[in-house]
Amino acid sequence: MNKEPVSRELFDDVMVPNYAPGKIIPVRGEGSRVWDQQDREFVDLAGGIAVTSLGHAHPGLVGALTEQAEKLWHLSNVMTNEPALRLAKTLCDLTFAERVFFANSGGEANEAAFKLARRYAWEHYGADKHEIISFKQSFHGRTLFTVSVGGQPKYLEGFEPAPGGIHHADFNDLDSVRKLISKEKTCAVVVEPIQGESGVKPADQAFLEGLRTLCDENDALLVFDEVQSGVGRTGHLYAYQMYGVTPDILSSAKSLGGGFPVAAMLTTAKIAASLGMGTHGSTYGGNPLACAVAQKVIDTVSQPEILKGVTARSKRLRDGMMAIGERYGVFEQVRGEGLLLGCVLTEQWQGKAKEFLNAGLDEGVMVLIAGPNVVRLAPSLIIPESDIDEALERFERAVKTVCS
Ligand SMILES: *Cc1c(COP(=O)(O)O)cnc(C)c1O
Repeated sequence: MNKEPVSRELFDDVMVPNYAPGKIIPVRGEGSRVWDQQDREFVDLAGGIAVTSLGHAHPGLVGALTEQAEKLWHLSNVMTNEPALRLAKTLCDLTFAERVFFANSGGEANEAAFKLARRYAWEHYGADKHEIISFKQSFHGRTLFTVSVGGQPKYLEGFEPAPGGIHHADFNDLDSVRKLISKEKTCAVVVEPIQGESGVKPADQAFLEGLRTLCDENDALLVFDEVQSGVGRTGHLYAYQMYGVTPDILSSAKSLGGGFPVAAMLTTAKIAASLGMGTHGSTYGGNPLACAVAQKVIDTVSQPEILKGVTARSKRLRDGMMAIGERYGVFEQVRGEGLLLGCVLTEQWQGKAKEFLNAGLDEGVMVLIAGPNVVRLAPSLIIPESDIDEALERFERAVKTVCS
């Protein structure tokens, strides 16, 4: 096996330059701590962008993965497999869903969701009813369809022509949806219950309820992209359960695999019928390794004491960040739910989120940003409270440096 020493510099020589990774290369992790090549230790409040829901090297996940690894890795969908069937059953038992489609990433789960919405409308109402309404600033993935449904035009720049029939309304503004929706043309309204990438902005209760009503009145499907908000992030298994507003289709990924690539699209039996034999597929979707790991994640995260723990940890982290924000005048608000938090920079610090991320790394704490004005936190759902306290101390030192 190739064990050549490698360094961050090599990235620029061998990788496509679409990312700008930080200067360190982490090599191992345990719980909410990560160590780099020089054995420097970090507290992880980033969670691999809301992915490592049970931290690093969780013994239960390592066990599920290795147990399955010794049995069977892959079959393709020419056969079904036990882990996929069990996971689908579990997801149906715990949510509104009656049918599940597995994919490998959030973008793919959304691609399936949008294709299903179109196909369902095409089958039941005809080809004119193909329009999708989504929201400005939303994020749904990087495939051409999902980036077109997403509401950040910069991600589409230079990749046009985009698929047609997509409109963008204003988030948390029902009137802007009313202006675009119609019984004749709209097949689906797509929304993140908490907009993640664009700054951790929760939807208003009345907004989601209003979308449900508008969709019902216009025979349109309501699609919740819960790729970031799902699987315990909010202290509820899915955010729709917190809002009490049930979608017709839901996409789940990120935390679902706890670090193993896996995604799911959930829907009802009636709607699922429109993805008939041969209409859609994925070679890896429902892979036994991925489903065995996701099963362990869901079994663990869905326990009431884990979900309650998210709420307690959220308060500790939120209060700590707000206190730092007030002491140094850097945050005007900490918003979000559970362990998906956005610390919104004050006027004076607008555009500088990345400076706080970099200073955090220097002090041994990993955080995320969500756009230029928000420091985002999405740690493990079971991060020890002592790690939260340590992370807050380190982050405060980072803020002090940035401010001095
Ligand atoms: C991350 C994200 C996606 C894309 O997921 P990938 O796994 O990167 O394809 C889609 N929707 C939301 C809300 C996300 O946060």
